[in-house]
Amino acid sequence: MPLPDALRAELSDIPMLDDQRVVRMKSRDFFWFSPVLKQSLGDKRADLVIEPRDKADVMRIAAACARHRVPITIRGGGTGNYGQAVPLAGGVVLDMAKLDQMIWQKPGAGRFAAGARMLEIDRTLAPLAHELRFYPSTRQAATIGGFVAGGAAGAGSCTWGQISDPGAVLGVEVVTVEENPRAIELRGRDVLKVMHAYGVNGIITEVEVPLAPLHPWCERIAVFPSLSAAAKFAQNFTECDGIAKKLVTVHDPQVVPYLKRLSAYADSGEAMVIVMASEPQAEAFELLVADHGGRVTFRRSAADAQEAAYGGGTMPPIYEFTWNHTTLHAIRIEPTITYLQLRFPPVTNLELVDWVAKRFENEVLLHLEFQRRFGKVTCSSLPLVRYTTTERLNEIMAELDAKGVAVSNPHTYVLDNAGWKRVDAPQAEFKRLADPFGLMNPGKLKEWRTEAMLATA
Ligand SMILES: Cc1cc2nc3c(=O)[nH]c(=O)nc-3n(C[C@H](O)[C@H](O)[C@H](O)COP(=O)(O)OP(=O)(O)OC[C@H]3O[C@@H](n4cnc5c(N)ncnc54)[C@H](O)[C@@H]3O)c2cc1C
Repeated sequence: MPLPDALRAELSDIPMLDDQRVVRMKSRDFFWFSPVLKQSLGDKRADLVIEPRDKADVMRIAAACARHRVPITIRGGGTGNYGQAVPLAGGVVLDMAKLDQMIWQKPGAGRFAAGARMLEIDRTLAPLAHELRFYPSTRQAATIGGFVAGGAAGAGSCTWGQISDPGAVLGVEVVTVEENPRAIELRGRDVLKVMHAYGVNGIITEVEVPLAPLHPWCERIAVFPSLSAAAKFAQNFTECDGIAKKLVTVHDPQVVPYLKRLSAYADSGEAMVIVMASEPQAEAFELLVADHGGRVTFRRSAADAQEAAYGGGTMPPIYEFTWNHTTLHAIRIEPTITYLQLRFPPVTNLELVDWVAKRFENEVLLHLEFQRRFGKVTCSSLPLVRYTTTERLNEIMAELDAKGVAVSNPHTYVLDNAGWKRVDAPQAEFKRLADPFGLMNPGKLKEWRTEAMLATA
């Protein structure tokens, strides 16, 4: 259905993009990491991109979309992995990039406009001796609103856990898509109503988060003779509460060659541990490496690491070789590679890591992202998979699940199919209130699909 002229006319003073190439680009995310999603989403796009300048613009756009029953898909940095930001039914892409201010900061907390990029937030906070507790490895492009609506964890999770943990997000402001939109403040547990909801139930305009004290994070790589040895070290190091740390990642020896820029820092067959630690405590880290029979092969100072994060130097920041950046590096070398999302239970995690490595040798290549959650250290993984067929992918996920490894399926754009078995997720209920016409990101919530798709047919 073509966009109503009246919608364009009513919003004509707000910046819009309708060059078809730009609209196509702004209708995509990193769904192409999945061979399954690549097939189903490749041709999907919006009709128009609108770039609100402030909250008043957001409310006007929401009202116009509601009045004209036009689908609306919110876009932060567009770095999501499951086609979350891909409009399935055309309509408007709402690009949040211009809503990028810090609203306030006080000791221990800050509030930011939802389109603020996470690297830029940290740049603003640095002179105030604070920083975000965690960020995805896409820190440079990802927005704080997109992280709440589509992300999970990242650098910082080894100390602070995940975005859905109690206290990780203090409050959000959400604008409803109604003929007379409202701005609603959600606080405490109510934040879960819109968290990881793919923007199906309200436009997040502000995010309030706790902040951590700023540390000078230096970067180190240590190598070990096997995945098992590296994982054991990473577990013990993450449990060392006295050492401030931002990142603990383990790469299986089979993953290392895909990290072209880093592969020189390990001999063939060695597993790699990537760490960001508080610089004054780097020595304590290195002693622990030696105790575990490893050796340190790469050192970058906190000052140089920060410069790299801001785009200086020749080597990217080290966190861009961890989390799902690992998949990006691997796909560049071997385009048929894809990935899975796993979470190992605490206590038995190392045992299960060994089991997975052995059971799916040469097919599922592990890298482990260590996390501290609810007082326990464990790890998650976004393992590389040498893809053959969708059936085989499903078989692997089912076997892992049966073994007690929590699987979240990254090969679906339907929120309810993705996993983590969140029976408490109140997203659908909040959608009735915040998006009564079912216009927001239609097709991403199962029970709303028919109604939303009919509305746009
Ligand atoms: C190479 C690579 C590495 C990654 N590493 C990580 C990682 O370490 N940890 C991790 O958690 N994720 C990771 N991701 C996924 C993604 O980068 C993060 O989840 C990121 O936080 C998404 O932010 P964004 O601004 O790009 O969101 P987008 O992709 O723009 O949006 C994500 C979802 O949120 C919705 N949305 C965006 N903004 C709003 C808003 N203001 N209000 C309501 N809904 C909104 C969108 O509609 C979409 O459904 C990675 C992805 C890639 C490609």
